[in-house]
Amino acid sequence: MGKELVNWENGRWIGQTLEVENGVCAVPSRDPAVPDGVLEYTDEVKAATDHLYDQVSDFIPKFEWPAFAPIVHAINKLKKEKNAVILAHNYMTPDIFSLIGDYTGDSLGLAIEATKTDADIIVQGGVHFMAETSKILCPDKRVLIPSMRAGCSLASSITGEDIKLIKQRYPGIPVVTYVNTSADVKAESDICCTSSNAVAIVESICADWGVDKVIMLPDEFLAKNVAKQTGIEVIAWHGRCEVHARFSAQDVRDMREANPGVVVLAHPECPPEVVAESDFTGSTKAMSDYVGDHKPKNVILLTECSMSDNVAMANPDVDFVRPCNLCPHMKRITLENIYTCLRDEVHEVLVPEDMREKAFKAVMDMINVKFDPVKGHFDPTLPEKDVKVI
Ligand code: SF4
Repeated sequence: MGKELVNWENGRWIGQTLEVENGVCAVPSRDPAVPDGVLEYTDEVKAATDHLYDQVSDFIPKFEWPAFAPIVHAINKLKKEKNAVILAHNYMTPDIFSLIGDYTGDSLGLAIEATKTDADIIVQGGVHFMAETSKILCPDKRVLIPSMRAGCSLASSITGEDIKLIKQRYPGIPVVTYVNTSADVKAESDICCTSSNAVAIVESICADWGVDKVIMLPDEFLAKNVAKQTGIEVIAWHGRCEVHARFSAQDVRDMREANPGVVVLAHPECPPEVVAESDFTGSTKAMSDYVGDHKPKNVILLTECSMSDNVAMANPDVDFVRPCNLCPHMKRITLENIYTCLRDEVHEVLVPEDMREKAFKAVMDMINVKFDPVKGHFDPTLPEKDVKVI
């Protein structure tokens, strides 16, 4: 068979590129910034990491563990030495999510954890807007992101200048901005929201302002899905998540036909016709809770691939059908660039103070809205509503 480079296992992304010789993982191919000889599978590494393997045994074959364990051990040591924490989003690969993430969850959960930690350094296991949110909430901490190229199609669909123009055009109507946006967009917004609390935030700000209309951006599909759940009139922007926008209603029908009895869970960034075909729609946390609480025999999560992997690890008795879509931005974060980022303390995320203060208010006003988590579930049976897209 000879040598080959792999970073997939049974069709799943495993995070790191490995050199496999005649079926055996010989030497991990490393980032040039990680010198040879530093990360070896020594007795010390083995003793310190053996207990971790069970958590990822469904995703990392035993013969590959010696390629993962040294860097996992090195990152966990660096975290202690530097008083650092890693915030790992649900879309991180299982090696990052389970083996080095100190806090794991959705955007809202990670933002709240960022406000509580007493670490000196936060390493964001996620994309750039998430790291900016951590910096907005924790100005005195160093916030590092392992890859400055970890962007987001939603965040790049709109700028702070766009928000200023929208506010001129629609005076007196509150602007609710999804957290999947840059700091300058948050700074110009009246309040932020996540997919967990979007309906509650829209209703709360409209009650505060005494209006029945809201501008919700940048995700057109999230805005349309929220509009169905509330009597508030919603004006949307034309941004889309390149991962969730790819699912179609026909995909869902085909999956049901191929997997009779399967339970379909969708993320509200999916198109409304996909939500209408689902059994349940909610944020990544709501989907994860649904699987844990209901233990369906088999389930499909219409979201990013690693989410299914991570929820599957916590629910070994549930069968996961995996018609997922990869987020190329999330997949730019790897064990290797987390290691070099923390070791060298590079890729610090900074937000100008005047912008940060304004964005802080929009994020904290969101965090301070208390809501019933059930309000964050989207009823798929509700009819679609007309939503103006600007
Ligand atoms: S999954 Fe979608 S919303 Fe999330 S980072 Fe990727 S492109 Fe952005």
